[in-house]
Amino acid sequence: MRKLLHFINGEFVAPSSGRYLPVFEPATGEIYAEVAAGTLQDAQRALDCAERAQASWALAASAVRADYLRKIADAIENRSEQFAQAESMDCGKPISQVRQIEIPRAIQNFRFFAASLETYGTEAHLHAGVGVHYTVRHALGPVACISPWNLPLYLLSWKVAPALAFGNCVLAKPSEITPLTATLLGEVARDVQLPAGVLNILHGTGREIGAPLVGLRGIKAVSFTGSTLTGGAIAQICAPQFKKTSLEMGGKNATLVFEDADFELAVRESVRAAYSNQGQICLCGSRILVHRPIMSRFREAFIAQLQTLKLGDPNAPETQLGALISREHLDKVQAAIATAHAEGGRLLLGGKPAELNGRCANGYFLEPTLFDQLPNTCESNQSEIFGPFATLIPFEDEAQAVLFANQSDYGLAASIFTQDVSRAHRVAHALQTGLVWVNTWMQRDLRVPFGGVKNSGLGREGGMDAMRFFTEAKNITIAIPSGS
Ligand code: NAD
Repeated sequence: MRKLLHFINGEFVAPSSGRYLPVFEPATGEIYAEVAAGTLQDAQRALDCAERAQASWALAASAVRADYLRKIADAIENRSEQFAQAESMDCGKPISQVRQIEIPRAIQNFRFFAASLETYGTEAHLHAGVGVHYTVRHALGPVACISPWNLPLYLLSWKVAPALAFGNCVLAKPSEITPLTATLLGEVARDVQLPAGVLNILHGTGREIGAPLVGLRGIKAVSFTGSTLTGGAIAQICAPQFKKTSLEMGGKNATLVFEDADFELAVRESVRAAYSNQGQICLCGSRILVHRPIMSRFREAFIAQLQTLKLGDPNAPETQLGALISREHLDKVQAAIATAHAEGGRLLLGGKPAELNGRCANGYFLEPTLFDQLPNTCESNQSEIFGPFATLIPFEDEAQAVLFANQSDYGLAASIFTQDVSRAHRVAHALQTGLVWVNTWMQRDLRVPFGGVKNSGLGREGGMDAMRFFTEAKNITIAIPSGS
């Protein structure tokens, strides 16, 4: 059985516990590898190495760090098909999606932050009669980057790349459910001869290594993406230590479709928003709010569009919907479907596991599921289900659409479909979310602030925000003598 090891101080090492966890292929239900079950001892060992490497990494010329990031990007690109196959197998997600979106984006993350080192400036303020203030930014020191299973390399590299770029040594902990591409990233770091200790990759569960890692005094900041529950647990450890945290957490996002929308576009994009990656993206729009005058036409067209999606073996290039991540998660989503029935919802499509033949007969597949007749305030419309599950909710007018969209403990993202420019601005400003898309969904630009409000997040990632998070600002004031 293939063993996935920690990557510490430039080499692959076995866990000090001597234990391993099974890793499943979601499309088949088979164990394909074992991953190191890391513990505090491994985290401490990696931190010791990172602390030894920290000063020279932080003091290296930024061109040197940028060069390493570009080499990492190039090395992933050279092995991109291997990365894509690995990610698809590990997550049960369609190979076309990882080839076209996820691996290219991971490569872009490294290139973008390499380039940012050449383009970002710093602030300076002329203070009349006093002098000049200028701000310098220092690396923080070793930082922890903790990521979830839904977009494994895409999200891990979104943290690791800026952390490294701005001079921090990194202790990265991918999800124990999807450890494969993070392990390949370790191989890449070794192959490009990234200095030992600069990037360390630790495997294992949140309880056994994630929480102990976060609690280590030498970890200067924690960048986390995952569930709101875990984000809260991390905040409890970090707050008494006054440790910097960036928390990207859950969502229950609304898609708002107004009667003046481009109808075909709204249908196509709201299906994409709800079911991409089997609904396992924090940004998925699972509450679809539709203006009542167009509801029945929209419902019919939405179902027709949903029925065109091809569910199947993630290996097949034509597959658009793959497997859910695990048996436990499939059970959780099925429990949510039972709740939707119990709450009086009307099942419009799906609602049960999908039966596949051949190698996928025991995989974790679920039919894309759609309900209506569920009030916005019920559990089905308030809790994050994170699966191929969406609901249609009618609204009477703009005020009610905004009310329903904001009636949530979460506040990550929303999409608005309308051709009325004034309405687009008005509604976008009124929504309590960190991200709003108008007439589209999930268009990402690495320069813009990414993150949520309320229970969806604390802080922002991306562009200048990532630079600010992974550095500490120091302001220096130089007096200019009067008369000079
Ligand atoms: P999770 O919170 O269970 O795990 C995320 C990571 O945290 C994993 O690596 C896990 O091992 C680790 N972890 C778990 N407990 C920990 C602890 N006590 N201390 C430190 N680390 C710990 O989340 P998941 O199930 O892997 O991912 C799904 C969730 O992630 C969903 O809620 C989804 O909305 C969210 N998510 C958010 C974003 C975003 O950008 N806001 C993006 C993707 C996913």
